[in-house]
Amino acid sequence: MAKVIDSKIPAGPVPEKWKEYKAHQRLVNPKNKLKLDVIVVGTGLAGASAAASLGEMGFNVINLCIQDSPRRAHSIAAQGGINAAKCYQNDGDSVYRLFYDTVKGGDYRAREANVYRLAEVSNNIIDQCVAQGVPFAREYGGMLANRSFGGAQVSRTFYAKGQTGQQLLLGAYSSLSCQVKAGKVKLYTRYEMEDVVIVDGRARGIIAKNLVTGELERFSANAVVIATGGYGNTYFLSTNAMGCNCTAAVQCYRKGAYFANPSYVQIHPTCIPVHGDKQSKLTLMSESLRNDGRIWVPKNIEDAKALQAGTKQGWEIPEVDRDYYLERRYPAFGNLVPRDVASRAAKERCDKGFGVNNTGLAVFLDFSESINRLGLDVIMQRYGNLFEMYEEITDVFPGDVANEINGVKYYKPMMIYPAIHYTMGGIWVDYELQTSIPGLFAIGECNFSDHGANRLGASALMQGLADGYFVLPYTIQNYLADQAVWPKVSTDLPEFAEAEKKVDAELDRLLNIKGKRSVDSIHKELGHIMWEYVGMGRTAEGLKTGLKKMHELEQEFDKNLFVPGTKEGLNIELDKAIHLRDFFTMGQLVAFDALSRNESCGGHFREEYQTEEGEAKRDDENYFYVGCWEYKGKGNEPELIKEPLEYEAIKVQTRNYKN
Ligand SMILES: Cc1cc2nc3c(=O)[nH]c(=O)nc-3n(C[C@H](O)[C@H](O)[C@H](O)COP(=O)(O)OP(=O)(O)OC[C@H]3O[C@@H](n4cnc5c(N)ncnc54)[C@H](O)[C@@H]3O)c2cc1C
Repeated sequence: MAKVIDSKIPAGPVPEKWKEYKAHQRLVNPKNKLKLDVIVVGTGLAGASAAASLGEMGFNVINLCIQDSPRRAHSIAAQGGINAAKCYQNDGDSVYRLFYDTVKGGDYRAREANVYRLAEVSNNIIDQCVAQGVPFAREYGGMLANRSFGGAQVSRTFYAKGQTGQQLLLGAYSSLSCQVKAGKVKLYTRYEMEDVVIVDGRARGIIAKNLVTGELERFSANAVVIATGGYGNTYFLSTNAMGCNCTAAVQCYRKGAYFANPSYVQIHPTCIPVHGDKQSKLTLMSESLRNDGRIWVPKNIEDAKALQAGTKQGWEIPEVDRDYYLERRYPAFGNLVPRDVASRAAKERCDKGFGVNNTGLAVFLDFSESINRLGLDVIMQRYGNLFEMYEEITDVFPGDVANEINGVKYYKPMMIYPAIHYTMGGIWVDYELQTSIPGLFAIGECNFSDHGANRLGASALMQGLADGYFVLPYTIQNYLADQAVWPKVSTDLPEFAEAEKKVDAELDRLLNIKGKRSVDSIHKELGHIMWEYVGMGRTAEGLKTGLKKMHELEQEFDKNLFVPGTKEGLNIELDKAIHLRDFFTMGQLVAFDALSRNESCGGHFREEYQTEEGEAKRDDENYFYVGCWEYKGKGNEPELIKEPLEYEAIKVQTRNYKN
């Protein structure tokens, strides 16, 4: 019999769902003396906010992260802002509109009810963060300022210069620290979860490695929450922090948690282009820059060739010879089309030979018009740190005037190109954010829940903090209410011993391969395969080739890897080897999912399925579902299980950003 997935969405029209749902809360009383323990893995915005909230509610929280401080989680890198439907600009925004934009932005592949709930709690997040002291940008009169992000025609993005993630994380960290001091949260920094322990079919604890001593430790609790981020680094080069990995998520998947929509990977249009084969990291230039920056390539192929040869500079090309291709193709949204659309449009221009740097893989992001209109001071107030970051990396300052043609000043434009940035797919969760393993929850970027096939800018922070502050702390109680009568299990149980033994054996296996290749050299090769065959444009044939190449490279990893040192003490190479082992599982999962989805939608673009204008062509008749994958062992094809999507409030239609 086909497996059925229960997403636990309460019945009723969408706007009522969350209200009804909240009426079901049972244990929300900070004063009660709960004897329930929850493990929260991760201290990014999702993990830190969840741990702080659960602690405040009276749970005993064990909170782990791989960095030396929660403040160093990848979330700190978030630049541009966080969305909320406050409608401070009085521009017609509403909860419904944010809900609608997010579902449409996700190319109608998100779960409708989840997105509505997200839009509804978005406003609470801003209030919560302001109360924590997060220094959001303000208007001259003191009101919180907003700017626009892709896929929206209103201004709903709250920001703190280009450092929004950092400021939000400092806010969450203050709340977390408060609970640490109160004794409700016990923090374990430099600990990595290596496995989840299942006892009688429920998640009851984890095995974690102390990254400093190398020792394995057992943790038991009444429920486990993973908030361990996305899997973008499978591609080796990405805008993600170097430490981002998918080990915890993949280990949960191996233990039976379904993995949903892995092929939905976001390629961000505005990143600093790759500039050499020794590079290990890419840098994002925030989408917020598209509020004032205009994207273009030359109209004439001769100009493009001259730019590629280095005999001409962008600022020598006059206005009339510039092709602002997003404004031309999508007049209604212009430079603020969603990321998948903007990335594909950049690739299309570069594939046709209009790229503007020596590799032909770059387009311009130009501030001349806005600096001329607003002045450099205003632009620096908005994006100063991003301009400085760009200058540090490329030695070009986008605020430098470089030319004057017919009385118009031309400033040095940025060069940008799409790069791997965010993963919409993740561990499958039901409406309560519980995975298919009872007692195991997933929040933030590591779950699949809200963004469908494409995430809109400034919505990841919104989702992470919604999950952590306002959703999980309530929904987890439906599970924990029944757990209150059960004692926490002992870590002496054979299930813990066996899980620890397996992790230990894996460490030995990796150390004892004693081959000739470093982790990074194999990871880089995996990244090339991913980008080439499972990247921005995918075909059935390419995906099959990619899978074959990944399989061969995984065998090379198993036979020819070299990890120096021992498992005792600090061994960063060993930790990276574990991550790479899991990137292999993840890469293949992305390819399997992409191969099974014979349509194009959002971040998943199958070249066989496109309109005459090169837009993604969905097939709602056959693929209107969440694709969930069940692990079937190393080297075996996982099994696809479908969760059909049901829309009640929004009419599913072809996305249109043209008018
Ligand atoms: C450059 C950049 C800019 C961005 N800008 C924006 C923006 O402006 N607006 C927006 O909405 N989004 C933005 N995003 C996306 C957003 O930053 C992330 O999606 C979000 O911060 C993820 O938060 P998280 O809490 O889910 O995970 P993370 O912040 O990735 O945190 C993961 C946590 O899990 C821990 N961890 C991981 N594995 C393990 C393990 N095995 N054991 C123990 N701990 C583990 C880590 O230590 C860390 O604490 C940006 C992303 C990038 C890369």
